[in-house]
Amino acid sequence: MSSVSVHRIEFDIPWPPDTAYAYLVDVNEPVLVDAGGPGESGTETLRDGLAEIGYELADIEHLLITHPHTDHGGQAATIVEAADPTVYALEGVRERLARDADDLAAAIRANATEVGVPDPEAEVDRAVDSLRRNRDCLPPEHIDVELAPGEAVEAGGIAFEAVHVPGHQENQAAFRHGDLLFAGDTAVEPFRPAALHVGLDHGCYEAIYAFHRGLDALETVASDIDRVYPGHGPVFDDLQAVIERDRASLEALVEDCRTTLSDLGAATAYEVTDARIENLEKRPYTIFESVGALARLERQGVIDSSMDGDVRRYHPS
Ligand SMILES: [Zn+2]
Repeated sequence: MSSVSVHRIEFDIPWPPDTAYAYLVDVNEPVLVDAGGPGESGTETLRDGLAEIGYELADIEHLLITHPHTDHGGQAATIVEAADPTVYALEGVRERLARDADDLAAAIRANATEVGVPDPEAEVDRAVDSLRRNRDCLPPEHIDVELAPGEAVEAGGIAFEAVHVPGHQENQAAFRHGDLLFAGDTAVEPFRPAALHVGLDHGCYEAIYAFHRGLDALETVASDIDRVYPGHGPVFDDLQAVIERDRASLEALVEDCRTTLSDLGAATAYEVTDARIENLEKRPYTIFESVGALARLERQGVIDSSMDGDVRRYHPS
């Protein structure tokens, strides 16, 4: 097993699964993988976590970000201010964070309408808010190095390979160092991460395909990996088992959408989701999963769809 020592810092986050993790890789030039949760409490947690191993914020020389969500990029701006580390992310992250809010709003409005959401403006507000929050935590101009899928980079004197793992988030990277994998929100042991991908932005119909592509990419390195450091849940060893569990979970999701549509006869993606999910208001992201699943079924020829004005209706073929 790689001999570098890795310290895990636990952040409380105000939504399930309640905790997220960043990892300090203790090498000559300290490397932090992910930047923890947002806000002042996140800053305090990070300071305390670093102090336990004899470091302070200003010591961080390299910051690797798996994906630009606030529970992983939370303290990036604070760290940049304190330490000015080299910041790395996968290609596309900078552009996504720099997205014009009006362009995003227009895309979400069109897709939310097509999907049959009763209140498209609520989806627009949610997406624009989320862009702003992600951007406040990790301003795009702070990203120094964008990595291509599969690209290797030396940080702190050791090599990391960026494995592109879309599906939970389109531009997500898992970082491999030798037999260690910093997985972000792909390959989490207790549950399959939600297939949010791009939300209802352009590309929303690709979510399930993308997640499978990410699992394929992980599978190419799985036999070399002896330990996984995920963004949530415990550190674990058996990556292959989690990949297989996630594939099965995606297929169960697709099958659930198929049988639900078959019961409903003809329905929008929103109606399929509403029939599948209890308390949909509390789990708005489930709509993204249904949209991806129905698109996959349609592409496989299992179901059809047609436009009724601006709204897409699916029907069993
Ligand atoms: Zn997360």
